[in-house]
Amino acid sequence: PAMPERPIDRSHMTVSKTDVAIEVIDMHKWFGDFHVLRDINLKVMRGERIVIAGPSGSGKSTLIRCINRLEEHQQGHIVVNGTELTSDLKRIDEVRREVGMVFQHFNLFPHLTILQNLTLAPIWVRGIPKAKAEETAMMYLERVKIPEQASKYPGQLSGGQQQRVAIARSLCMNPKVMLFDEPTSALDPEMIKEVLDVMVSLAEEGMTMICVTHEMGFARQVANRVIFMDQGQIIEQNEPEPFFSNPQHERTKLFLSQIL
Ligand code: ADP
Ligand code: MG
Repeated sequence: PAMPERPIDRSHMTVSKTDVAIEVIDMHKWFGDFHVLRDINLKVMRGERIVIAGPSGSGKSTLIRCINRLEEHQQGHIVVNGTELTSDLKRIDEVRREVGMVFQHFNLFPHLTILQNLTLAPIWVRGIPKAKAEETAMMYLERVKIPEQASKYPGQLSGGQQQRVAIARSLCMNPKVMLFDEPTSALDPEMIKEVLDVMVSLAEEGMTMICVTHEMGFARQVANRVIFMDQGQIIEQNEPEPFFSNPQHERTKLFLSQIL
């Protein structure tokens, strides 16, 4: 229901055939005895826009959290922008710098202004001079269409505005890949579109994206590949058109019949 009316410009959505952004190979993860991710294999080329769908509890969040090393996998390999995720902390920091993450709950600092939220990491993690960091932050607030909110606090903004701030905050770190974990599912319906519009514009500019979302309109229009997960496994993946019109597995059919 929340998709933009305007046609999406796909001219910049070129997918590299040789440049791998993320590769997950034979990966398993357990929480204690619970085998939460089972033999995950996933290769994301630069410029790809992947939507991950699947029932609640199927492991979608855990998978993208592993890609950002917010969770550790126990078996197999995860390679992000050419760096394998191991327990080498220095490398993890390098990887995190290049991977932006946007969560369902915006995780803004409530006691900082919007501008301070956007400049905190650039100044303190990257060592960028304050004036330059603020200039970049304002550029991205323009991008997400809320520059006038810069001196307010998160609590003074709507959910949709806060989520756009969270996206702008990620972009201030100049990520090569953006991970979205149900960025619109905590929002009131009328605010979903303003956030999806920002995500569409990122896709149009060629950003490599992995989006966990139930917004199947977004998946149809923006994704070049939809991945369906159930019970910790990738059950099925395909381009959006065949994925929606001709799902192969019973579990995919059941899921789609429940959400469409
Ligand atoms: P999804 O995002 O698809 O809803 P999650 O990745 O959040 O699924 O969770 C997958 C499964 O792992 C669920 O059964 C959930 O209860 C469990 N789980 C998630 N996080 C933890 C954790 N930190 N410790 C133990 N179990 C967890
Ligand atoms: Mg989740």
